[in-house]
Amino acid sequence: MRLVVQKYGGTSVGTPERIRKVARRLIETQRDGCQVVAVISAMAGVTDNLLKLAQEISPEPTKCELDNLLSTGERAASALTAMAVNALGGRAISLTGAQAGILTDRNYTKAHIANISPRQIHELLSDDYIVIVAGFQGQTPEGETTTLGRGGSDLTAIALAGALNADACQIFTDVDGVFTCDPRIVKEAEKLHEMAYDELLEMAGSGAKIMQSRAVEFAKKFGVEFEVRSSFKKSRGTIAKEETPSMEDVVIRGISLDRHQAKLSIAGVRDEPGIAGRIFSNIAAAHIIVDMIVQNASIAGTTDLSFTIHEDELENARKILMPVVGEIGAKRLNTMSGVAKLSVVGIGMRSHSGVAARMFECLGRNSINIQMVSTSEIKIAVILDEKDAERAARLIHAEFGLGRLLPAASATQPLA
Ligand code: ADP
Ligand code: ASP
Ligand code: MG
Repeated sequence: MRLVVQKYGGTSVGTPERIRKVARRLIETQRDGCQVVAVISAMAGVTDNLLKLAQEISPEPTKCELDNLLSTGERAASALTAMAVNALGGRAISLTGAQAGILTDRNYTKAHIANISPRQIHELLSDDYIVIVAGFQGQTPEGETTTLGRGGSDLTAIALAGALNADACQIFTDVDGVFTCDPRIVKEAEKLHEMAYDELLEMAGSGAKIMQSRAVEFAKKFGVEFEVRSSFKKSRGTIAKEETPSMEDVVIRGISLDRHQAKLSIAGVRDEPGIAGRIFSNIAAAHIIVDMIVQNASIAGTTDLSFTIHEDELENARKILMPVVGEIGAKRLNTMSGVAKLSVVGIGMRSHSGVAARMFECLGRNSINIQMVSTSEIKIAVILDEKDAERAARLIHAEFGLGRLLPAASATQPLA
C-alpha cells in the first residue's frame, strides 16, 4: 500500500472550516488506498501570538520554556484535525513530535533532528489510523520539548517521509506551488512544475518563505522528493527533486527577496592578517548571523569592510562592534537599516554567462542603485534600498522573461 506524508501549513488549518476541509482530504486519500501521515502546523498567527505573549511576560524567557510554549500551537491544531477526521466518520489519532519518535539535540528553538523512531506510527498505520503528527517539534534524549526553527513543520514532514520511506511527500500550502517569484510581489509570477533541490535551497535561503531552508537541505541530503501544492485546489504543484540534465536549460529558475536587512561598514580597517577574524569572532560569539561580506581593495594599507545582518540584530551588533572598531584602530563604523537582498537563482547559470551584466544593466536603467553584490555558482544577489526592492523584483522578473520561462538561449540573449 502507498504511504503518503501530507503537511498542512498554518493558513490551511487557519479556521475550523479549513480544518474540516483538511480532514476530508485526509479521509479521501486513505479511501484512495493510501496509508496517511499528516503533519499539521499551528493555526495561522498562533505561533506569532505565543511569541508576543512570552515577550509580555518576560523580555528574556528561557529557550527551554519558549519551546514548551511554542510547541502547543501545533499540538492544538493536530488534535483538532484528528477530532475533525473522527467527526467525519474517519479514524485518526494525533501524536506530539515526541510520541512520533522525533529525537533532537538540545539546541532549543532551532533544534536539529538526531533520529526518528517511527515504530508507533507504523503500528497505528497498520491499525488503519490516519496518523496526525504535530509539526515543528521533537524531544531531547532527556525528554524536554524542542522546536525546529520557524517554518519547522516542513522539516517534520520531510524528515518523517524519509524515515518512513514514504512513497510521496506533499507540502500543502496557501499558494499553488513554488513560483518564479513570490506571487504576492510579482503578479506575473509562474508556477514551476519542477525544480532542483539546490535551486529551492538557494531561494529559501534568500528569503522565499515558501519552504523552510533546513527542510530542503534535509530533503537534498536524504533524497526525499516532495511536492509543494495548494491545499485549496486539486491541481498539481511543484516537484522538488535531484537535478536532471535538462534543468540546466533554464538559466534563471526564480527570484527571491529578503527584506529587513541591515548593512554595516567599518572604514579604515588595517589590511593585516587577523583583523577580519577579530571583527567576525565578536559577532559570531553573539550568535549574529552574517550574510554578505565585501572587502574593498586596499589603499595605503587600509581597507573598508562591509557586511549584512538581519535588521533586528543591528543594535546588538553596533554595541559589540563600537569597542572593537577602537581596538583595531579603524576609522569608523557606519550602519544602515532598511536594505533588502534580491537574488536570482538557477542551476543554468553554471553554463551560461551574462546574467550578472543583464541584471545590473536592468537595475541601472531603472535608476536602482546596487550597494553590494555576492555570487554563488547558481545565484547572484544584490543589496538594494528596501524601498526599491519590490520594483526591482518585478523589473528583473520581466527582464529575464520569467513569466513565460524562456529557454536558455533567449534568457541570456544580449540586450538590444
Ligand atoms: P505555510 O503556512 O503553508 O507553511 P508559508 O506562509 O510558510 O506557508 O509559505 C507560503 C508563502 O510563501 C506564500 O503565501 C507566498 O507568499 C510565499 N512565497 C515566497 N516566495 C514564494 C515563491 N517563490 N513561490 C510561492 N510562494 C512564495
Ligand atoms: N508554527 C511554526 C511557525 O509559525 C512552524 C510552522 O508553521 O511550520 O513558524
Ligand atoms: Mg511555512
